[in-house]
Amino acid sequence: MADCALVTGGAGFLGSHLCDRLLAGGARVVCLDNFCTGARDNIAHLAGSARFSLIERDAAEAPDDEMIAALAGVTRIFNLACPASPPMYQRDPVFTMRTCVLGALNMLELAERTGARLLHASTSEVYGDPREHPQREDYRGWVNPVGPRACYDEGKRAAETLCADFIRGRGVDARVARIFNTYGPRMRPDDGRVVSTFIRQALAGEPLTVFGDGSQTRSFCYVDDLIEGLIRLMEVEPAPGGPVNLGNPEERSVRDLAGLVIELAGAGVGIDSAPLPEDDPARRRPDISRAKAALGWSPTTPIREGLERTIAWFRGGARAR
Ligand code: UDP
Repeated sequence: MADCALVTGGAGFLGSHLCDRLLAGGARVVCLDNFCTGARDNIAHLAGSARFSLIERDAAEAPDDEMIAALAGVTRIFNLACPASPPMYQRDPVFTMRTCVLGALNMLELAERTGARLLHASTSEVYGDPREHPQREDYRGWVNPVGPRACYDEGKRAAETLCADFIRGRGVDARVARIFNTYGPRMRPDDGRVVSTFIRQALAGEPLTVFGDGSQTRSFCYVDDLIEGLIRLMEVEPAPGGPVNLGNPEERSVRDLAGLVIELAGAGVGIDSAPLPEDDPARRRPDISRAKAALGWSPTTPIREGLERTIAWFRGGARAR
């Protein structure tokens, strides 16, 4: 486990769970966040820890002397900073692309300068609307480079290219996680993702908005499982030879998910149809053979259990932030 880790996007949904997990393992954690989608509430409970510190800053901004001084002793860099839900990353697409590319470049240069190991949070979105199913890491994807999702998809693809070049040519130990749909406590109720939206709607007694006919599929991983995968990927020796898919291979349709959320929330609500967003991928499921072989990792939380925990957290006062 890391002695001292930098987590960019550390106040976000995944980042804050990662900070918790690293602190519980005894590490010192520096969280960098600009709070564009992250939330102070997600890290408020860490403020009292002597091993936790916060740098409020944009990951796309080149580190200055003050930041570099604050990062003395960092041996692990988790680069998670980026809006990740489609409505959020499309809100300011140029900002998203800058964060993906310049954020990764800044962190890779920092890793090169300090000798820290880096884990970059990539995404299943690099596969676009995939023509191969399930998606293996050697599938090169089907991305529309000029569509509304491109700022994120192509930004993350460019960041993977930077990681590959820093590994090949500049001696950096970088690992790339391709993260598939993940859910759990601390998702923003207003982030527009399907799980958070459905739970918020069910608890408010509103109909669930299914986009399109709801036959499109996703594979949903509970957050604790995902964090375990990130930690293993960061620590495994030797580094896997390429990007590693992290996600739950259990695939279901959006319509099926809606039914499950309604049942588990005990909500007597119906389903409304809404238009399918442009370039919405029709199917998505990770092939996790590489993660199993290289990390000995696979998710263990059944969807019903994960959704129950998430619904309980939303009931307990998650606020639209
Ligand atoms: N979706 C939906 N209703 C919503 C939000 C999303 O039917 O209120 C659908 C969306 O069109 C997509 C899937 O749910 O097919 C997953 O969407 P999400 O934004 O969570 O993540 P994505 O995998 O598309 O990045």
